Formats: sequence, structure tokens, C-alpha cells
Amino acid sequence: ADSSQIVTRIAPSPTGIMHIGTARTALFNWLFARGRGGKFLLRIEDTDRARSTPEATEAILDGMRWLGLDWDGEAVSQFERAPRHAEVAREMLARGHAYKCFATQDEIEAYREAARTANRSTLYLSPWRDADPATHPDAPYVIRLRAPRDGATVIQDAVQGSVTFRNDQLDDMVMLRSDGTPTYMLAVVVDDHDMGVTHAIRGDDHLNNAARQAQIYRAMDWLEPVWAHIPLIHGEDGKKLSKRNGATGVMDYARMGIPAAAMRNYLARLGWSHGDDELFIDEQAIAWFDLSGIGRAPARLDMKKLESVSG
Ligand code: GLU
Repeated sequence: ADSSQIVTRIAPSPTGIMHIGTARTALFNWLFARGRGGKFLLRIEDTDRARSTPEATEAILDGMRWLGLDWDGEAVSQFERAPRHAEVAREMLARGHAYKCFATQDEIEAYREAARTANRSTLYLSPWRDADPATHPDAPYVIRLRAPRDGATVIQDAVQGSVTFRNDQLDDMVMLRSDGTPTYMLAVVVDDHDMGVTHAIRGDDHLNNAARQAQIYRAMDWLEPVWAHIPLIHGEDGKKLSKRNGATGVMDYARMGIPAAAMRNYLARLGWSHGDDELFIDEQAIAWFDLSGIGRAPARLDMKKLESVSG
């Protein structure tokens, strides 16, 4: 493979309808890859078995197809990659970047309670971080990252700029649960790394996760993707989009009779601008799309505008 090739992805959790925000994120990733001879991948983040359904996966595939966002290769199931996630957690353990934590839920709760009473930070610091393995009990454990305690974790984000997270506010995150299943943080990093993702373009509700994910990349000495966290879409009233202030499902728009091409055009300009250009066709969007055109303020849904471009 060409090591300079751009690889983007959309990584939806199949827990409901395909949200218009997911559709826009998919479109941005698709435009970015298609305009640069790159690859656009689809990963279904179905690790949460209780909430993931096959119907929701189908709804995502339907939404992608309706919008004409073709992905390269097969859709990847994150759940099926669980053995690989566990393998990386164990590798981190072997290399000293992680440790086994035997603390029970009760012990963690007691720690927090004591911290609250003493007016200290309730961020859990496991006593197992520095324990001698010879003292390890024969008991269930989770694998935690040995996160840096001093200084800060700084993210360079193509939209948000340089974002600093104090390390004393980030705990040693759990990467592998006591039942051997990976947490979301670990799964995303391992998958993005293995899939060769070069640009992680996603909603800014994931900005805090980026700090944690960057800690895993840095511990593993893996190349981080370029981060680009896009402000979320708001409703016409300026509040976060919900069923009360706009249609949230992308297929709601299909049912309203909005043509897919109009929807693409509208979504492309929702939070991204290209000079004074108001309307453009797919070829232009593909040629012009870049991360520097993504605004820092939340985009507002404007149904009148959407209807006017659909005419
Ligand atoms: N699965 C996450 C979501 O649906 C996306 C994770 C990511 O893009 O890194 O919000």
C-alpha cells in the first residue's frame, strides 16, 4: 500500500437510527478521501452488545447508500476484532505501559467517598499501579493504562487548534475489562491503527476521548491520526439537535422527498464553507473540501434552506 495514502473512516455505533450528524460526518470523511485519491472506510462499532442491533446496522448501511457514500472494502465489525484488542492490551502490559488492577467496585467507591470527604480529587488512583507482581492475588482484574501523571496531554486538532488536557485530570483508564472485553477507548485506537486511518474526522463530542486515545497511541509509539473534531449540528433554535427542534434521522429527509443530491449539497455546507460559494455539485465539493473550511461554531439546521436547494 502507498504509505502516503489518506485513509478516513466513519465509525457509527448501531444503536438507533442514522443520525443526521453521523451522515454529515460520513460525508466530510468521504469528501476528504475522495478528493485526495484516498480510502474511505466503514466500521460498525458494535462492541456494546446490549445496545447494538442488526436493524440499526442496516439503517446505517441504508442511510449511506441513500446518500451515495460508497465505502472501500467490507464494513468492519468492531466486535469481531475483540481478540485483537485484548492482544494489544496484553502487549501493553508486557511492555510496562499498562498494569493489572485488582481493585473491586466497592474499593473504588470507598476511595472516592474518602476523597470527597477529604475534599480531594475523586479521580481514582489505583494502588496496583506500582504493586510488585509477586503480590498479585489470584483474582479478577482489569488492565489499566499507566497514564502520565505529570504535565499535560496536548492534542493538535485541525479544527480546534491545540487543546491541552491536564494529566492530573485523566485517570489510568481501563482498557480491558475483567471479562476480557475491550473498552471503547482501546477498541477505537487499535482499529484506527490497524485500518491505517490517517485522519479521524468526527463530532467534537469526542474531543475529550481524543486525549485518552492519544495516550494509548503514544504509549504504543503508534502514529496518531490527524484529529479533526467538528462542532455538532444544532437545531433552528440554536440548541443541540434533538427530536424537538429538527428531524434527527437522515432517512426522515428521504421520506420528506428531499433528493439525495440536495441532501449531500446541504450537508456539505453545514459547518463547512468554501468562500462565498453557496451551491455546488458533488464534483466541486470533492475538489474543494478541506479541513480548514470547517467552522468552529456549531452549524444550525435551516429547513428553509434545505427546501430551497431541493426545489
Ligand atoms: N462510535 C462513535 C460514535 O458513534 C464514533 C467514534 C469515532 O468516530 O471515533 O459516536
